[in-house]
Amino acid sequence: MDLFTGQNLLEFTERFKTDKNCKEYLAHLKWEQEFVCLKCKHSKSQIRKDFSRTCNSCSHTETASANTLFHKVKFGLRKAFFICFEMSTTTKSLSASYMGVRFGVTDKTARLFMHKVREAMKSSENHPMDGIVHIDEFVIGGKEVGKVGRSYNSKKKKIVTSIELTDKGKVKRMYALKIDNYSAKELEIIFDKHIDKNAVITTDKWKGYRPLSKDYNITQIESNKGKNFMALHTMIHQVKSWIRTTFSSVSDFNINRYLDEFCYRINRSQSKKNIFNNLIVRMVKADKIYQAKIICS
Ligand SMILES: [Zn+2]
Repeated sequence: MDLFTGQNLLEFTERFKTDKNCKEYLAHLKWEQEFVCLKCKHSKSQIRKDFSRTCNSCSHTETASANTLFHKVKFGLRKAFFICFEMSTTTKSLSASYMGVRFGVTDKTARLFMHKVREAMKSSENHPMDGIVHIDEFVIGGKEVGKVGRSYNSKKKKIVTSIELTDKGKVKRMYALKIDNYSAKELEIIFDKHIDKNAVITTDKWKGYRPLSKDYNITQIESNKGKNFMALHTMIHQVKSWIRTTFSSVSDFNINRYLDEFCYRINRSQSKKNIFNNLIVRMVKADKIYQAKIICS
């Protein structure tokens, strides 16, 4: 089976005409290496018409979507595939109400499924940044006052972000996550998850970074109102306006999901050809996630 590549909507529509086409695709990704029965661990199975597998030993049947992020998707796999295609290939902001209108589902249903997709977009944390890295913090929400510096307004969400730059100063990768405050302990979270000990890091002169230079190669320079961190501040501007224009309100609980979505696309802007398939593989490999873990507010 050929994997789907590219961003062409007509080709996509032609390839995935029915739920069955999607089941075949999922089954291929799920079992192309091997089949192992979930009940008895037996490895031989019969392939059914809908691409489910029935274990030859205990007769347990597993569907292609079972135990993936497509598990019991209410509105059919084809719509789910289209939403995945939109979310992976777009450069625009897509809200749940837009998706609802486009695919004929309620806002709530669209929102829930889009959060599952964001779950799949989360970084594996297996490829920490090890080159030229710039780090800074910013806030989301509340009134924008346009002033430079750290905000202590408790209504705003505090975010720390890191970008990795090419030798020419272009953005290669980006990560961002919510922190409770600007202390070294909170700032350290992004270092632990996404920064390699060999990275050559630059931050502004904020004292919260000082204790971290024990373990990391950090140079602190004047921010000069962001002028010394141009690429980073361009990205901060983009992610803020993306969140502001798409989502009327973003809860503390979900903010990291939106940041994950934004960074997932940024980090694959050079491999857009394979981005849809990459996302579907992640949806298949991730454990199914229960609604209770996703819905909040
Ligand atoms: Zn079995």
